[in-house]
Amino acid sequence: MTSNPTFDRRAFLRRSLQLGTLTTGALAASLTLEGCGDAKSSAPSPTSTTNLGPATSADWSKLAASLSGSLILPANRAYAIDRLLYNSKFVDLRPQGIAYCESADDVSRCLEFATSHDVTLTSRSGGHSYGGYSSCEGLVIDVSRMSDVSVDTTTDTATVGAGAQLIDVYNVVGRQGRLLPGGSCPSVGIAGLTLGGGVGVFARRYGLTSDNLRSVSLVTADGHHVKANGHDHSDLLWACQGGGGGNFGVATSFTFNVHAMPEVTLFTMQFPWAAAATMLEAWQQWIGSTPDELWSDCQLFSQGTYGFLAQTNGVYCGSAAALAPLLSSLRALIGTAPSYSFVGSHDYLEAMEIEAGCSGLAIASCHLSSHNPAGQLSRSAFSAKSSYVNAAMTHAQAQSMVAAIENLQSHAPTLGGALAFDSYGGAINRVASDETAFVHRDKVAGIQATYSWGTYTPASEIDAGQAWLTWLGAEIFDPTTGAYQNYIDPTLSDWQSAYYGKNLKRLVKVKNKYDPDNHFSFAQSIPTSLPRR
Ligand SMILES: Cc1cc2nc3c(=O)[nH]c(=O)nc-3n(C[C@H](O)[C@H](O)[C@H](O)COP(=O)(O)OP(=O)(O)OC[C@H]3O[C@@H](n4cnc5c(N)ncnc54)[C@H](O)[C@@H]3O)c2cc1C
Repeated sequence: MTSNPTFDRRAFLRRSLQLGTLTTGALAASLTLEGCGDAKSSAPSPTSTTNLGPATSADWSKLAASLSGSLILPANRAYAIDRLLYNSKFVDLRPQGIAYCESADDVSRCLEFATSHDVTLTSRSGGHSYGGYSSCEGLVIDVSRMSDVSVDTTTDTATVGAGAQLIDVYNVVGRQGRLLPGGSCPSVGIAGLTLGGGVGVFARRYGLTSDNLRSVSLVTADGHHVKANGHDHSDLLWACQGGGGGNFGVATSFTFNVHAMPEVTLFTMQFPWAAAATMLEAWQQWIGSTPDELWSDCQLFSQGTYGFLAQTNGVYCGSAAALAPLLSSLRALIGTAPSYSFVGSHDYLEAMEIEAGCSGLAIASCHLSSHNPAGQLSRSAFSAKSSYVNAAMTHAQAQSMVAAIENLQSHAPTLGGALAFDSYGGAINRVASDETAFVHRDKVAGIQATYSWGTYTPASEIDAGQAWLTWLGAEIFDPTTGAYQNYIDPTLSDWQSAYYGKNLKRLVKVKNKYDPDNHFSFAQSIPTSLPRR
């Protein structure tokens, strides 16, 4: 299959589309930690510390010596690579230190250090934050060494270290004949994905990643270790199911429900560009009638000098024979023969490797080379904006989306960019919008607009891409439909209601309970009070 050039191109496009395709005293009292059976850290608690003033190099050395993991400082050789996030547009971010924590106690020590020396802090798992929010000027608490994955087939649960990357999770879970629904990009971290929701190719059948979360272990701002589940700290569990990464504490481990692995069939159909609007309109009608077993997307690409591409892809939990009549009905609705079509059956792990753009690669190779010496994946530079479709589009609305891609091409002829529509519905929409912090439960589809660039792309093209996204946000997307918090967008003005809607009030309450002094703070973090309207 990998020798088929068309298929390789499709895998490449899928890969591109992984973008185109997320007062301390009162706190201590409110947590009643011992009563809930939470572990007491052997690390000192920040609540017991006073402000020790700016951190000296001796203080940083003391922190390094206190960790079972390691601390990388600007003088270390590894710093040049270790400071980088996935998106290479954040190349200028230079934290004062990166702590590779190996235990919850390491995390507590980092929090104690940061709060007592007034050092800004953030947590990092896979480093894929669209806003660069897993880096900061101060201390990055990196959890990537806490990445063990284990499956209990008697309870159908998986326990996943907060720094595990998706491909490694799928690998371990899949080898036990189980499935955890999640996103496509192999190097995305489980922490960021889960905390912001987790939309993926099995979401219509099994829900979001966060819908499958049973418990989460976190270190809260006061350095305590807390396990949130349906009984203890259930408010914190609720907030961790879509309330966004980096807001309430540093997660160290998650336990998820997993599911018996189904037979999986993948499909792709490409259509002539002249049929693009009809394809998009028909696809939106069609997904309203398809079973939960079928997830699909619809994509419009401007491929720079390669012109345009219109395609739909899907993942079906069932056989190719059972999928065939569903695809026939889509083709009939579109009324134009596809210019290319592919249907193939795979097991779950193979399917996730294809979705990851890693078809034919060993798992070790399906990583960034900075994470795994065998890694063959590279960082990329991109910008994005998200929105939602509340009701299936009319032909005129679909045409405006096609025109929007043509607009990108005419203003930035060498840039690659896309509008990608991901089907919602099914298990995603059966959860009430206030049952977890993930509020977007009545959508037909999510939309993501992206453009990406390379080292030699002229600045004028990159600026044109940004102007395109701004125009889309102002003129084409409907701001009242919301935006996906995992596609966090620093340019969004009313991000609080776009990401969290009516759940914001409760998230603010949880924030006040677990981080009243706002130690976990960045440009789009959950505030300690509701914004004034
Ligand atoms: C190429 C690409 C493909 C993607 N595909 C999908 C997809 O298919 N489906 C989908 O839903 N999303 C997808 N996303 C979006 C992705 O879910 C978010 O970017 C997510 O936040 C990334 O998580 P991370 O751990 O890799 O990132 P990070 O940058 O490490 O973290 C993201 C946020 O979570 C915080 N955080 C990190 N670790 C912790 C922790 N241990 N405790 C508390 N907070 C923490 C960070 O401070 C930051 O604010 C994709 C992103 C990229 C770049």
